[in-house]
Amino acid sequence: MVITKPDFDVAIIGGGPAGASMGAYLAKVGVSCVVFERELFPRPHVGESLVPSSTRVFRDLDFLPQMEAAKFPHKFGAVWTTDDKKTPYVHDLEGLAPDCNVDIRFEERQQIGVDKTYTYHVDRGKFDLMLLQHANKLGAAVYDGVKVASVDFGPKEPIVRFTMGSQEMSVSCKMVVDASGRNTFLGNQLKLKVQDQVFDQYAIHSWFDGYDRKAFAKRDTNLDYIYIHFLPISNTWIWQIPITDTVTSLGVVTQKKNFARSRADREKFFWESVGTRPMIEETLRKSNRIRPFKDEGDYSYAMKQLCGDRWVMVGDAGRFVDPIFSTGVSIALNSSRFAHKDILGALETNDFSRPSFSTFENTLKLGTKNWYEFITVYYRLNVLFTYFINDKRYRLDVLKLLQGDVYDDAAPPVLEKMKKMVADVEENEKHPWHKLLGDLTSNAFRPTM
Ligand SMILES: Cc1cc2nc3c(=O)[nH]c(=O)nc-3n(C[C@H](O)[C@H](O)[C@H](O)COP(=O)(O)OP(=O)(O)OC[C@H]3O[C@@H](n4cnc5c(N)ncnc54)[C@H](O)[C@@H]3O)c2cc1C
Repeated sequence: MVITKPDFDVAIIGGGPAGASMGAYLAKVGVSCVVFERELFPRPHVGESLVPSSTRVFRDLDFLPQMEAAKFPHKFGAVWTTDDKKTPYVHDLEGLAPDCNVDIRFEERQQIGVDKTYTYHVDRGKFDLMLLQHANKLGAAVYDGVKVASVDFGPKEPIVRFTMGSQEMSVSCKMVVDASGRNTFLGNQLKLKVQDQVFDQYAIHSWFDGYDRKAFAKRDTNLDYIYIHFLPISNTWIWQIPITDTVTSLGVVTQKKNFARSRADREKFFWESVGTRPMIEETLRKSNRIRPFKDEGDYSYAMKQLCGDRWVMVGDAGRFVDPIFSTGVSIALNSSRFAHKDILGALETNDFSRPSFSTFENTLKLGTKNWYEFITVYYRLNVLFTYFINDKRYRLDVLKLLQGDVYDDAAPPVLEKMKKMVADVEENEKHPWHKLLGDLTSNAFRPTM
């Protein structure tokens, strides 16, 4: 009898941070794997500011020297700003600075396995290409410009089907990793996607040359932080992310109901939104936009399951939460960090059934639940975040979440405390913060999938 071997042990769909890091983790220990990427890199991509937990992955993959050589701006911390004249905050609350600005610096809290006091802001075209090339150098096959059309999960090994030129082709493998981002390839094929009922955010963004970052930095050390500027429109904010010494990425995030339908109206919306913070508008008008505006819509969702017999989902392919804390790339990288261990176990035992990937699934669900609840508290009662950051008792615990260390605690005490305070404020109409409650409801605290 002839025993045929599958073409690859693992086939990975998507070559973004999740897929490339998965390819690198597996190839590094000699697993035969292939990454399919439908685009030809470099290509632009949203999601440019990282959090420090990404460093663990770069270190595992011996990728830190490349990150340094690329001279990406170092990100030492984050600042949140509001316009104290317009934003409906209470200014004389204990613990709040008069202008309601808060900042954090990552070096304030030591992280196990992260020996740097900073992380990076990245040009995703360049970063994604570098990481995919790194996976390739470690031994992962990369088929770029190749879009996967379907996966057949028959009784035997999965068959991945794609078209090259006019030819229909396929490869067989022992298992499939879906890293297809918000395209959610397997989620669609297997009908597992559940749209988020609370967060239906939209964004419009571009790059600007000559935007004077000094206009907002209160200290020189804050110059290359990420800035989150709150606008006096409900649940609407702007990101300001350094890309190079002179180029800055700016994007407006808002709820679907505020977002204009047509492209022309969206650009108008961008400028009108920015105009609600005159200092930002003034600074921005003096700079040059160097990319077309790009919009992103309809982006929060979960999947009913993150793994099944002979498949696993990593990164955005499995879950997307609002990007207010710059979480996406870190979740993508760390999901591959966790999942690759279960995949190695499955290859070892030749057992590719769903339970083989349950450690990964449980860890990731716990981490994204914590992110999600933190984000929900933030939108529901914005002032609470400022209050906790400024309170010495909680500052480092909040910082832990902001650093991306969310996978080791089922119920971080600081999050429990925040949720309790939100509930108290909701119940007590006389509470001075009651009128500050946002319009995203706290039913988001229901158990997540
Ligand atoms: C408005 C907005 C702002 C954001 N800001 C941040 C931020 O500041 N920081 C942060 O960390 N994250 C941010 N994110 C999130 C971040 O963009 C993502 O979480 C991150 O890119 C996820 O990486 P990934 O590898 O899972 O997916 P992706 O980076 O999207 O990669 C998926 C890849 O799969 C490929 N692909 C898809 N389908 C197929 C197919 N059928 N065949 C072959 N290839 C396929 C795609 O071409 C793509 O290259 C933001 C997201 C949004 C929407």
